[in-house]
Amino acid sequence: MARAKLIVGNWKMYTNAKSSVELAQAVAEGLKDNTQVMVGVCPPFPWLTKVSEAIKGSKLEVGAQNFYPAKEGAFTGEVSPGMLKEAGCTFSIVGHSERRHTLLEPDLLLNRKVKAGIAAGLGIIFCVGELLSEREAGHTEAVLEFQIAAGLAGLTAEQLKLVTIAYEPVWAIGTGKVATPQQAQEVHAFIRKFIAKQFGETVAQSLLIQYGGSVKPDNAAEILKQPDVDGALVGGASLKTDSFLAIVKAAY
Ligand code: PEP
Repeated sequence: MARAKLIVGNWKMYTNAKSSVELAQAVAEGLKDNTQVMVGVCPPFPWLTKVSEAIKGSKLEVGAQNFYPAKEGAFTGEVSPGMLKEAGCTFSIVGHSERRHTLLEPDLLLNRKVKAGIAAGLGIIFCVGELLSEREAGHTEAVLEFQIAAGLAGLTAEQLKLVTIAYEPVWAIGTGKVATPQQAQEVHAFIRKFIAKQFGETVAQSLLIQYGGSVKPDNAAEILKQPDVDGALVGGASLKTDSFLAIVKAAY
């Protein structure tokens, strides 16, 4: 089945007010002739509104890196899905490994986030991935099964239409160590099979599964060529217009 490709830049806690707008505008400009690939960027919270306004009417989507699963309330320091929508976001990342392992977010909370985001009408990029020690111990598949089963628990096939899975092996994020195209394909095929078991073959065949972990212009094409790789979640290389657009072109 032919699936669309989705390339998303995760800016993490980088950029400032000026550079965020300049970067987003330059990326949007570079997408003028692109009709083939869906593209989004996830700036830090304070720049979301500015960036959304700056790229209005372009083919670039704006997303968030995180949110809290409640409409509003006494949750100091947190941001709701509705607030993100009002700031121009159409989607958000949930469960990035930096939030799982540095901010210690548990699977149960991630499941609540996925559900709350979908209820608010946000697309969700749900990140999963194993640590190096888990891969070396031969536990990659078990880790992924657990993360997916827990994170997507209770969702209907209809709700899953708003979800993209990003496979991001933790050992490849920001390290320069990229999974080989074969390693990525093997895991993506495994994830699709697991989704088919949980939600049915039709859902699994239309689900987008992105790869993330040190994707760069020089390795993107080989990875994106794999039959079960439907795009990339890009960290470091999304902070430079040229390298990010080169990755988008590699997905054509
Ligand atoms: C990420 O932040 O999701 C990521 C994959 O980062 P990098 O591309 O820098 O490894």
